Amino acid sequence: MKNILVTGGTGYIGSHTVLELLENDYNVIIVDNFSNSHPKVLDALETIANKKIKLFRTDIRNKEKLEQIFKEEAIDAVIHFAGYKAVGESVFQPLKYYNNNLTGTITLLEVMEKYSVRKLVFSSSATVYGTPEKMPLIEGEPTGATNPYTRTKLMIENILEDLSVAKDTWRLLSLRYFNPLGAHNSGDIGENPNGIPNNLAPYITQVAIGKLDKLHVFGNDYPTEDGTCIRDYVHVEDLAKGHVDALQYLETSKKGFDIFNLGSGKGYSVFEIISSFEEVIEEKIPYEITGRRAGDLPVTYADTTKAQNDLNWKAQKNIQEMCRDSWNWQKKHPNGFED
Ligand code: NAD
Ligand code: UDP
Repeated sequence: MKNILVTGGTGYIGSHTVLELLENDYNVIIVDNFSNSHPKVLDALETIANKKIKLFRTDIRNKEKLEQIFKEEAIDAVIHFAGYKAVGESVFQPLKYYNNNLTGTITLLEVMEKYSVRKLVFSSSATVYGTPEKMPLIEGEPTGATNPYTRTKLMIENILEDLSVAKDTWRLLSLRYFNPLGAHNSGDIGENPNGIPNNLAPYITQVAIGKLDKLHVFGNDYPTEDGTCIRDYVHVEDLAKGHVDALQYLETSKKGFDIFNLGSGKGYSVFEIISSFEEVIEEKIPYEITGRRAGDLPVTYADTTKAQNDLNWKAQKNIQEMCRDSWNWQKKHPNGFED
């Protein structure tokens, strides 16, 4: 299995995975429409990897174009990152999310079926656990969706499972990511949010670089030790490695469909993340406590036993390394790929 099609391969997690695949001697073919990424990511990837990378600029919902790619390239497996990911936006624009995430995935699967490419790794999310009753989160726990984005992830997991029942030659994996953080150790690719970041880490680094005044901490009255929410942060390079392990697992797996958590298994509060960034930045991060953000869970972290046992994957990098690498990327490229 050598030729891997990566949808959304110029996005945050996709771009790091592309580098990890190249390092492991896979050939990579990227499909991306740049709806949430910058065309210059490709230059950065080629410079870091020191090789040319094939990229098709197209929307995965364009079936004709997708078919052409499958006809031209001898694709062995697909890693599917392409989709929209903003929880808040999905509440206000559900059709945008159902259309892109569901139609995109169904179109991709139809083309894969037609060209007999039946191995796929899918980007799911820890949000599919809904409002869980106990921690850590284990793959078999009940799921639930509190917003359209998460519902698309759950629906796609169901579609993948149905497909594996319909034909036993499919090998489909859903990876439920916890909170990705960090950037490539070169500092030349990283998370590049459009506009004001929704997520904690890019917000903090943009405060530190002077683009934003101060961080708003969404609530300090949660039932946690310091009152702020706890999340399971995982280095994006560890996540990227998880995809290579997932591909290797698919080679020999007898299971048509399977699910794995990818997280570090440890929880950090918002205040602990602020402190870790302050250590690496060597400056205080100004913040203000504001009200809770609707829908935030007090605590989430993963049980990663299944990924350890079956994928032989375990997150290696600690929170200091995650914050250091995020900051390194932000400092080197204050305006993202515009620099
Ligand atoms: P991202 O937005 O940086 O990357 C997604 C990429 O897909 C972008 O490059 C975008 O241009 C492309 N894309 C979107 N729709 C497309 C389409 N129809 N055709 C072609 N390309 C398209 O997001 P990310 O953070 O790298 O996340 C990747 C995947 O992981 C997403 O599916 C996301 O839902 C999932 N995920 C992300 C997180 C997170 O916190 N970043 C957590 C859990 C799951
Ligand atoms: N958070 C915050 N201020 C921000 C962004 C996030 O206090 O500007 C908090 C948020 O309430 C949550 C944690 O940081 O407890 C992680 O938020 P993020 O949006 O990064 O991840 P998610 O909530 O999706 O797990």
